[in-house]
Amino acid sequence: MEIIKTVKQMQQAAHAIRTGGESIALVPTMGFLHEGHLTLMRVGKEHCDRLIVSIFVNPTQFGPNEDLEAYPRDTEGDLRKAENVGVDLVFMPSAREMYPQGAQTSVVVKDLPRHLCGLSRPGHFDGVTTVVAKLFHMVNPHVAVFGQKDYQQLAVISRMVMDLDMDIQIIGVPTVRERDGLAMSSRNSYLSAEERQSALSLKKSLNLAERLFNEGERRAQAVKDFVQSYILEHPHTEIDYIALCDPVTLEDVNTLTEGTLVALAVRVGKTRLIDNARLRKQKKSKKQ
Ligand code: AMP
Repeated sequence: MEIIKTVKQMQQAAHAIRTGGESIALVPTMGFLHEGHLTLMRVGKEHCDRLIVSIFVNPTQFGPNEDLEAYPRDTEGDLRKAENVGVDLVFMPSAREMYPQGAQTSVVVKDLPRHLCGLSRPGHFDGVTTVVAKLFHMVNPHVAVFGQKDYQQLAVISRMVMDLDMDIQIIGVPTVRERDGLAMSSRNSYLSAEERQSALSLKKSLNLAERLFNEGERRAQAVKDFVQSYILEHPHTEIDYIALCDPVTLEDVNTLTEGTLVALAVRVGKTRLIDNARLRKQKKSKKQ
């Protein structure tokens, strides 16, 4: 497995792969890899000849009071896991390498960041789209793989790719969960044992929303109220948002339909966690 730290070398390596007639899949990450990341990598591998993973904790997507400094890091463990999955190349630039001094250009998607996480994390998605656009220029992938756990991020990046005519196939992978339902996240490592118990309320409340929908509830506000009171029954929880929204525009809806996105951001202790689900009608089981 090759490890590259400079933009120039990355571009040369990508050029050599393409010249050799091979295709490239990119999985961008911020490291501290878990099974969610590794699943994205396996999907990337299925789609292309060569798999490139970037590990970069991107400072421009963290707000001034967020956890940039504390963000968990484990380069050695990450490289071992990447190698085991069969990654061909890891690109891990420094912040100085990524952002040349005096950098003043960014990629901004206009409307999608105005919802959900964008409301409490101003500038976050500008940081995301800028760094992902830069990674795309550096790695020149045919395919890039992202997790549906960060639903809004996937939506924003898909929009950017469409709007800027980037010739890259974006693949979204369903959220990978712990056995008890908790969505895997590098930030789960911040949780105490008690907080982790409370964190289960996110997925359980999504299940509750789905159950209400399947029982015939169509009022978004009623489901939101249920979800809110369910989560708040758990200690250390503070709700950032509960949104029932259109899965494409991310605009709030009043009436639920199949496919409506239920998206949550909840602080558990000091850790901000997100999760989401699309409402589906469950098939009624056939009676014998
Ligand atoms: P991060 O390192 O948190 O920036 O995540 C890198 C990529 O992994 C993003 O596309 C995330 O959406 C994706 N990802 C993170 N956690 C999960 C998960 N539990 N299931 C699926 N994808 C995930």
